[in-house]
Amino acid sequence: MTETVFDRILSREIPADIVFENDEILGFRDITPQAPVHVLFIPKRRIATLNDLEETDQGLIGRLMLAACAYARCQGFAANGYRCVINCGPDGGQSVDHIHLHLLAGRRLSWPPG
Ligand code: 5GP
Repeated sequence: MTETVFDRILSREIPADIVFENDEILGFRDITPQAPVHVLFIPKRRIATLNDLEETDQGLIGRLMLAACAYARCQGFAANGYRCVINCGPDGGQSVDHIHLHLLAGRRLSWPPG
């Protein structure tokens, strides 16, 4: 698989504002924030898209979501609400082929998305 910018963030080759890390997940601020809070949570093991998930990834993808929810709670914006999004493929708006969960918060988000 071709390396993505997220591999370079994981290896600390390029800087990122890291807000969360454990043995299998990294959370860092999006370089082009779409809301006052815009954090990307990625699995350290690269999985390109949602289409590439396997049954054995069930725990990992759950923990990715739980990491985002825990971050929202500990940062104090959980009660106001937030949005978690995983884009998939060209029509889904995915631009980096390494699964990432967008956590957006800090303003009223509109629906439907564009
Ligand atoms: P996607 O469009 O694939 O769902 O989201 C990719 C996200 O990665 C975009 O929101 C984009 O701003 C973010 N991004 C792309 N390159 C970098 C980078 O070098 N550093 C950080 N922190 N975010 C990046």
